[in-house]
Amino acid sequence: MILVRWTLVIVASNALACAGAFAADAKEVSWPRSWYEREAPVHVYGNTYYIGTRGLSAVLIVSSEGHVVIDGTVPEAASDLLANVRGLGFDTRDIKYVLNSHAHFDHSGGIAAIQEASGATVLSSPAGAAALSKGRGGPDDPQYTVITPFPAVANTKVLPDRGSIEIGSTKITVHYTPGHTPGGTSWTWRSCERERCLDVVYADSLNAVSADDFRYSGDPRYPNAAADLRASIDRIEKLSCDIVISAHPEGTGFWEKVERRKNGEANALTDPNGCRAYAQGARERLNARLERERARE
Ligand SMILES: [Zn+2]
Repeated sequence: MILVRWTLVIVASNALACAGAFAADAKEVSWPRSWYEREAPVHVYGNTYYIGTRGLSAVLIVSSEGHVVIDGTVPEAASDLLANVRGLGFDTRDIKYVLNSHAHFDHSGGIAAIQEASGATVLSSPAGAAALSKGRGGPDDPQYTVITPFPAVANTKVLPDRGSIEIGSTKITVHYTPGHTPGGTSWTWRSCERERCLDVVYADSLNAVSADDFRYSGDPRYPNAAADLRASIDRIEKLSCDIVISAHPEGTGFWEKVERRKNGEANALTDPNGCRAYAQGARERLNARLERERARE
């Protein structure tokens, strides 16, 4: 069931911008229809599947010893994500971990329901875990005053920066990527098909999107916002990266790549320049934002 009213005029040009960007008054905000649009699961590579909606990524990593889900999209789509897991032939009760890019309702809204269905442990950074447990970020979240809260998540634990979990033979490592939120995280692992192993990156949002009253350059509620975001962009740029999926799939051209693969380009999802291109775009947008803030001073 979708409880959202659409005013697509506002959002059409803002598909990349994460929640909260569209209007100062939260009551008038509405979200892209694609965020709620069910998609059939897509095999990405090896043990990795895309199970998200048209407009919000979620990934399933499977093993004989249990599975991992990254991101829950919006609350209304959690049942579709779980149906996609079952549709691929896996038992949702075998989901051992749920990971998150960042604690905004468009990426963590469905996590409470997925956690409840599976009994999984939910892992994040300290700030991310605190926000997940409460169902919203603190005042240092650049979108704090406009963002929609989401269902609070049980069984949330902290994984230290560069820490990892192992599931079967797959090691999944966390990279703290604060800036879009103070607790944002990105995730990397290696997926193999026969002898060919590829480094896969699930990249957090790197956009300097905020409430109208927040300044990325030195807001007292999150003074390091711009420096954090810049460091996170640098970090994503330098990752070993054969396949990248960003929290908003269009950020790294996911559906275009899937389409190209359907049309016969077998390795279309492999994009060794994908992380660099994603980071460079984010850096340009951050610089433009800081320029606008300076011009207003
Ligand atoms: Zn966000």
